[in-house]
Amino acid sequence: SVSSDTHNNSFLKMPTIKFTKLFINGNFIDSISGRTFETIDPRTEEVIARVSEGDREDIDVAVAAAREAFDRGPWPRMAASERAKIMMKWADLIEENIEEVAALDTMDAGKLYYSNKFGEIPAAANLLRYYAGAADKIHGEVLKVNGNFHAYTLMEPIGVVGHIIPWNAPSHSFFIKVSPSLAAGCTMVLKPAEQTPLSALFYAHLAKLAGIPDGVLNVVPGFGPTAGAAISSHMEIDAVSFTGSVEVGREVMQAAARSNLKPVSLELGGKSPLIIFDDADIDQAVELAIMGIMYNKGEVCVGSSRVYVQEGIYDGFEKKLVEKAKAWVVGDPFDPKSQQGPQASKDQFKKILSYIEHGKKEGAKLLTGGNRVGDKGCYIEPTVFSNVKEDMVIAQEEIFGPVLALMKFKTIEEAIKSANNTKYGLAAGIMTNNLDTSNTMSRSIRAGIIWINCYFVAGSEVPFGGYKMSGFGRDLGMEALHKYLQIKSVVTPIHNSPW
Ligand code: ADP
Repeated sequence: SVSSDTHNNSFLKMPTIKFTKLFINGNFIDSISGRTFETIDPRTEEVIARVSEGDREDIDVAVAAAREAFDRGPWPRMAASERAKIMMKWADLIEENIEEVAALDTMDAGKLYYSNKFGEIPAAANLLRYYAGAADKIHGEVLKVNGNFHAYTLMEPIGVVGHIIPWNAPSHSFFIKVSPSLAAGCTMVLKPAEQTPLSALFYAHLAKLAGIPDGVLNVVPGFGPTAGAAISSHMEIDAVSFTGSVEVGREVMQAAARSNLKPVSLELGGKSPLIIFDDADIDQAVELAIMGIMYNKGEVCVGSSRVYVQEGIYDGFEKKLVEKAKAWVVGDPFDPKSQQGPQASKDQFKKILSYIEHGKKEGAKLLTGGNRVGDKGCYIEPTVFSNVKEDMVIAQEEIFGPVLALMKFKTIEEAIKSANNTKYGLAAGIMTNNLDTSNTMSRSIRAGIIWINCYFVAGSEVPFGGYKMSGFGRDLGMEALHKYLQIKSVVTPIHNSPW
C-alpha cells in the first residue's frame, strides 16, 4: 500500500547542507580540478547539493596528509586511552546531532528517517564506543622459545588505511570501517559512495570538533574508477577495506596486487537464504521473511532474497506472505507510517525493475508487486515471485531490491543443497524449533552469519563477513581490529636467565 503523506514533510525541518567539500588534513577544501557532482534525492529525483569531486590528485594529497599524520603525528603514538577519549567524544557529538545526520541519510539514500535516528546511527555511534573500549586492550604476547631467548609480539597499527564504502548504509558502513582502524592507531582516507557523500562529510566535521587530529581522517567524495581506483592502487596506502559489489571487489584486489601488494578485505554481495521448516511458527516466519528482504527497500547485503519453505506449510505461508507484502507501506521515508522508502538511486531503481522483468520472462510467477509506485521518485512495490527455479537469474544474482524469490523444499538434505547453491556466502536464516535441524543447518551452510529464528540481529561485537564470493576478512567484533594491525615478533637473548 502507499502512504498518503508521500512528500509531505511538514512535520520535519529539512537540514541545510553545510558540508560539500573534500575533508583533507582537517579542512574542507575544493577538489584540485574544481569539479563538482550532483547528489540526488531519490524521493524527488531532484538535486540536493553539488559536492566536490575528488580524483586521483586529491587522493594523493589526502594520502600525503594521512602519511604525515601516521609517520610523525600524535595519533599512533598517543596513549590508547587518549585515543579512546576522543572517539567517545565523537560518538557523543553524533548523538547530539542525530536528527540532522539522520535527515541527511534519508535525503541522500532514501532510508527511513526513524530507522536512521533510532537504529542505524545510534548503532554507528556505539561502534565508536565499542572500539574506543578496545583501544587499550590491544596487545601482543610473550612466547616461550627454546634456549635463553625472550620472544614477544608487538601489535602495531598497519599504517595508512584506505576505506571504500557503499551507499546502502552510509552511516553504519562509515563507522564499521573507521572505528576499528582509529582504535588500532591508523590514519585513513575514506571514499564514500558517490550516491551518498553527505553524512560522511558531516561526520568529518564532528570528528574535528571531537579532537581527531588533522590528517588522521580524510574524507574524499568522488567516483569509483577515479578516486576509488586511486585508493586501491596507491603505493602509500598500507591496507584497503572495501564494501561493495563482487565486480568492484575484484578490481580493488587486482589494483592492490598490481601496486604495492597491500592487504585487502572485501565485504561483497549476498544471495542469502531464509529456510523455513514445517515446525516453524508461520506468522513469525512471514514476519521475518518480509522484514528480511523489504527492510531498507532490499538494499541490504544480507537481505533474505531467497526464501525456502518446507512443503507442509508452504501454501499457508505463501498466502500470508502475499497479504503481508501487499500491506507493506511504501512512501516518503520521512513519514513515520512508511515502511519502505525509495531505492537509493535511479540506476538502482532501473536495475531492480529490469531484474523483475527478467524474472517474469524466465517463467517465475509474480505473486504481488513488480511495478514502480507513483510517477515521481525511485519507489518500487514490494515484490514476491513464486515458482522460482534454482538456476533462474532472480535466484542467483543479487538484486539488491525489495524482490523475494519463494521456493519449496521437502527434506533437510534438499534445503542444505539449495542454501549452498550460490556463489555467495554472506548470511542465512533458519526457522525451526528442532534443535537437531538447527544444529545441522547452521553447520552445513557456508555463510559468515547464521540466524536461527531471527534475522538481521547483529551488533558491534559480532564478526561479520563472507564465505565464497561474498568476500573475506571480517568487519565488526574484535576480529575487525586485525585488519588494521600488524604483528611484529621480537626475539632477544637473555643472559643469566634463572630458567
Ligand atoms: P554498488 O554496486 O553497491 O554501487 P559498488 O561496488 O559499485 O557498489 O560501489 C561501492 C564503492 O566502490 C563505491 O564507493 C564506489 O564508488 C566504489 N568503486 C566503484 N568502482 C570502483 C573501482 N574501480 N575502484 C575502486 N572503487 C570503486
